[in-house]
Amino acid sequence: MYFKRTDIYLTNMKPALRQIALERMQILIKNAISNARTNPKLAQRQASLAKKLSTKYRIRMPYDIRINFCKKCKKFIAPGVNARIRIGRSSVKSIRITCGFCNHTYRKIIQKSITKGQ
Ligand SMILES: [Zn+2]
Repeated sequence: MYFKRTDIYLTNMKPALRQIALERMQILIKNAISNARTNPKLAQRQASLAKKLSTKYRIRMPYDIRINFCKKCKKFIAPGVNARIRIGRSSVKSIRITCGFCNHTYRKIIQKSITKGQ
């Protein structure tokens, strides 16, 4: 095991910091989604913290995090709570996300490379 996490942290600090930031971002979004129904204010705060992390460390938000932000009003939208998600039935596989705050609908095309576990 040459690439244990501790080794990476010691030899290459900057990418490690980004890796930590990315992990924190993912945890924050995960928490924000689970809090969206019971504590929407906390969810928004956690989501904005995640956004700050991405700008601070210049990390491109992973696709699965980006779809949780409205394209128009930039608010955090939790699927099933303040966003409606519909699967498109056309030949191009896509999902339609309707923001619960500004009612903006946007479409995400699901590319084959993105679907995991295949
Ligand atoms: Zn919106």
